[in-house]
Amino acid sequence: MSIRRFLIGIFLLIIALFLGVPYLANLFSPVQMKKQQTLVKLYIHDQNKIVNITIDDYVLGVVAAEMPASFPLEALKAQAVVARTYILKRLNSGGLLNPNHPGADICDDHKHGQAWISREEMKKRWGSLSYYYYYNKIAQAVKDTRGLIIVYKGNLIDPVYHSSCGGKGTEDAEEVWHFGEPYLVGVSCPYCSDSSPVQSSFLPVARVNSLLGLNKGCLSATGKLGMNTRSSIPVMEVVKYTPSGRPKEIKIGHKIFSAIMVRDLLNLRSADFTMDLKNGEVEVTTRGYGHAVGMCQYGAKGFAEHGYNFNKIIKHYYKGVDVAKLPDR
Ligand SMILES: [Zn+2]
Ligand SMILES: [Zn+2]
Repeated sequence: MSIRRFLIGIFLLIIALFLGVPYLANLFSPVQMKKQQTLVKLYIHDQNKIVNITIDDYVLGVVAAEMPASFPLEALKAQAVVARTYILKRLNSGGLLNPNHPGADICDDHKHGQAWISREEMKKRWGSLSYYYYYNKIAQAVKDTRGLIIVYKGNLIDPVYHSSCGGKGTEDAEEVWHFGEPYLVGVSCPYCSDSSPVQSSFLPVARVNSLLGLNKGCLSATGKLGMNTRSSIPVMEVVKYTPSGRPKEIKIGHKIFSAIMVRDLLNLRSADFTMDLKNGEVEVTTRGYGHAVGMCQYGAKGFAEHGYNFNKIIKHYYKGVDVAKLPDR
């Protein structure tokens, strides 16, 4: 081997090591985080007070509130890791101002973060016979995953989740909130087990007109036609679809809306919907339930029923992540 080739070889080796070190360091070092806060300051809406509970008790109450306890254990375990990651990310952001409840880390209302229920509420919800079985099942899920969190390149992720993608696969965060994360991209949901993903509801034309700020004549004229012919007439036209095939921009009358905006204004189950005029009313048909980003809970149930463990379920819905263990204190 010539000296020249030898030197080039050494040079390339040094470059490779230099590029690889941060990756290797990431792979082998424990997750870098500030000293863990061990208690959660939880604001309880009904009682208008803040209680201090352990992270495990918090995670248990969230799993009980956010996922049906009848779901398979591996799905409940995935939910427990997600709930733990969620609260630790919140605690780790350090003194994050909580405009809803000053002095609290989080509350028990899903609209302000994650839902959480007490043991009394679990008893009410499940009945005292099922309570012991379900409580122990969820406690098992929390215990089996103690200290486990989801990280992307060594940092806690924003583990958003939803009830059901309707079988269509999940959505890019970018399409829903205008901010993306490399791990929050649309993936397939092969075993989505939502038994009624498609649901219809009827709204009076006048109500739709007023909620969407449409001119009065916009829908009512065709509405009469719908009443006469007893057939349904499409109300909206999809102008643009998201990569997962959900409506992104729609046209109603002469107005263009984002599908998300219409979902919020009409309080729909999801932004994946169609609207028709039928018998003089607006029939809205939705698919799935929730924003469709991150873990699909009914999909997690399906995966668990097909033999997937919680680790595999999590890695399916959050792309490129690792499930890591918090260093023991
Ligand atoms: Zn709240
Ligand atoms: Zn799904």
